[in-house]
Amino acid sequence: MRAVMLLAPRQMEVVAGVPDPSPASGEVLVTLMALGICGSDLAVWGGAVVPPTYPWILGHEAVGRIASVGEGVPGSRVGEIVVIEPNYPCGMCHSCLAARTSSCSGRQVVSRTIPGLLRERFCVPSEFAWRVADVHSIEDLVCIEPLAVADHAAGQVRPIHTGGCLVVGAGALGLMVVQLMAAYGLEVSVAEPNGERRAFALECASRKARLTEGTSFGLVFETSGTVDGLREAVNYAQTDATVVALGLPHGDIPMPVETVVRKQITLVGSAIYDHPDGFSKALGLVDKGILSPGRILGRRYELSMTPEAFASAGTLAGKTWIVAD
Ligand SMILES: [Zn+2]
Ligand SMILES: [Zn+2]
Repeated sequence: MRAVMLLAPRQMEVVAGVPDPSPASGEVLVTLMALGICGSDLAVWGGAVVPPTYPWILGHEAVGRIASVGEGVPGSRVGEIVVIEPNYPCGMCHSCLAARTSSCSGRQVVSRTIPGLLRERFCVPSEFAWRVADVHSIEDLVCIEPLAVADHAAGQVRPIHTGGCLVVGAGALGLMVVQLMAAYGLEVSVAEPNGERRAFALECASRKARLTEGTSFGLVFETSGTVDGLREAVNYAQTDATVVALGLPHGDIPMPVETVVRKQITLVGSAIYDHPDGFSKALGLVDKGILSPGRILGRRYELSMTPEAFASAGTLAGKTWIVAD
């Protein structure tokens, strides 16, 4: 089969003749249908985050079809269309026992601690291959994982505000938060230096407001994980605001503490989602037709063009995605 290998930072190649995996006990073998490229994949691709080894396989937001099953998995699963939940918590640590698997210290992260899914076939634990109804478009299915991340961030704010909110950053994660907040009925503003990305993000929101000088918000989502993004988030926050930080910086970044103190801001961190509730909730949002997450997708590439897709994904508007060819 073919697999997309990262040989060194920014050096990616589609390699043929890679041996097919076979499912171990409790696993399913999945044939890739489509995969979304995420900011965390781009961080490894660009060298900001170093993978455990080279060559490395990236990709974790995958949709596919079960081709075969390992021991202990019912054969009736063969043929199912599945979305992959790409974080496997240990199930035994303090966080896992408290149903907070998003903070699990022994978590296996597909494409980060174990090889990713950018290949024609891969194996995953049966429990992390979520069966989905085939009435959904492939576009919506490929966005379930980032939707679970955005929904977990929204869940950090209870009760959810009414009125307006600001989303800082219009990368894949920002786009999803924009769409989700709009679906919850909030009027969404977007702070993003790239004009094309900002315009695309606003297209994803049914209710939106242009960001103007002097506006302030009671609820802000920081999705860029950058120094500038965090500063912007805190500057636009009003007194007593909640700022939810979900963009992951690479290493420690300076924090505008004086503004946080003076405005008495509540700063909340949000990391991925909890297993299994996060995924089942995200799937439920799509099942109920509350939103159509595929709207955040931008340019589509075939698997053989994945190196080109990574080279442009960081600057294009919309989330770049890959389809099997
Ligand atoms: Zn992701
Ligand atoms: Zn754990």
